Amino acid sequence: MANAIPEKIRMNTTLLENLAEVAKDAALLKGVLMRIQETPNSSELVTYAPFTLFPTPVPEAAFSQALAVQTHFNTLVDKISQDAEFLQDALASTIEVDDFTARLFKIHQQIVKEGTSQSVVCGLNRSDYMLDQAEDGSSSLKQIEINTIAASFGGLSSHTPDVHRHILQLAGQLEQSERILDNNPAAGLARAVAKAWELYGSEKAVVMFLVEEGQRNIFDHRYVEKELWNRNIATMRRRFDDVSKTGSMDRDKRLFVDGQEVAVVYFRNGYMPQNYNSEKQDWDARLMMERSLAVKCPDISTHLVGTKKVQQVLATPGVLEKFFPHQPQVVDQIRATFAGLYTLDMGPEGDQTVAMALAAPDRFVLKPQREGGGNNFYGSEMCEVLQEVKDGTERTAYILMDKIHPAPVQNVLLRRDAPLQISTCLSELGVFGTYVRKGEDMVLNECVGHLLRTKSSEHSDGGVASGVAVLDNPLLF
Ligand code: ADP
Ligand code: MG
Repeated sequence: MANAIPEKIRMNTTLLENLAEVAKDAALLKGVLMRIQETPNSSELVTYAPFTLFPTPVPEAAFSQALAVQTHFNTLVDKISQDAEFLQDALASTIEVDDFTARLFKIHQQIVKEGTSQSVVCGLNRSDYMLDQAEDGSSSLKQIEINTIAASFGGLSSHTPDVHRHILQLAGQLEQSERILDNNPAAGLARAVAKAWELYGSEKAVVMFLVEEGQRNIFDHRYVEKELWNRNIATMRRRFDDVSKTGSMDRDKRLFVDGQEVAVVYFRNGYMPQNYNSEKQDWDARLMMERSLAVKCPDISTHLVGTKKVQQVLATPGVLEKFFPHQPQVVDQIRATFAGLYTLDMGPEGDQTVAMALAAPDRFVLKPQREGGGNNFYGSEMCEVLQEVKDGTERTAYILMDKIHPAPVQNVLLRRDAPLQISTCLSELGVFGTYVRKGEDMVLNECVGHLLRTKSSEHSDGGVASGVAVLDNPLLF
């Protein structure tokens, strides 16, 4: 098995312990921070965001492939978001049974009917991948999902490279230390938001971060906020509740919250059912923001493009060609990253998907239309769920996906209060992409950095926020 831990250190527990202590200080020193679980509303007590002691080896070819395809994914997301008919068809079966997606879709439909008041659109995406390992040892880049709303860790991952550089220096791995890539998604995300702000065209209007109540990951946002303040763009943080209580639209549909005109709403919340607390107010607040003149990152249709159902429909033959009719190379480049994705719609094709999954449960993952980690079903649990829903339309709330098998790597996961131990780990590579469109013109379309997250192979699911994965850096080979 591959090992991220330098050979001479593996057997030396004392050295590992010393390195881990310095590593935690380095993370604190570099601002790789999180609020603690006990007091998520306060920065009086903070800890380091969990991270790996060593960077994880990642093949250079796969890494470059992921970066190279990102601007095409941006274009794809943006094109789909403008195709109301496609979204309607793709999500038709899902919204019959999935209440959350249906509520989002209803807002989308209202906006389509009214016509959007803002021609500027800002997308901040993160496309996530795992490297599927074949039996001959070769690996191929496979997309897990694309996040079109509230994609996180662009801030903290801008500061982890220095931590790993320092650890490798201490471990006597100078050559490797110098190979750790620079990374600055925070600056890239802010560049897109700043462009959207500029196109909105009012010096005194602010960028509003729409956030949740207890936000352990606040420092991740703060880095983007700081980048905006560096450009003299004012930011403020508000919750749905604040928007609902103090928000309004004037006759020109300009959005005001707490008396401030909002140029851009950057959603760092609103992607899970439980983000909408009160039955009605929070949904009304979302609707008001969507109807307003403020630029949304993302707007409601772009949010919907990130659903698992759209991902599955994109993998059906001929669909990518529809969005890139004259660019077969782009189609190939995108499709090369797709794993097998299967419909559970009612009918013979969906029936076949059910039979296939039940016959070989370890080959697949069952996914509902949820975000935030910990929602998917694997193995025997997947079979139980499928048995329960397979004969009715409830099954259309899910999609089925090939399970990706990345090569395991030995590493040490550092998290508060966890004992120091060597774990068998799996990694997931995220690539950040941003774009700003004004009417027909793509004003900006960039790949702005990466995120490597690593988790113990014992867990089949879950991200950093859900306490399973930790921050990492790729060491290209
Ligand atoms: P979420 O929107 O909740 O983040 P994901 O599709 O990213 O949903 O799945 C959550 C986690 O489950 C991923 O981070 C990954 O660890 C695991 N996972 C998801 N899809 C697959 C897959 N096809 N093969 C293997 N693991 C997967
Ligand atoms: Mg995910």
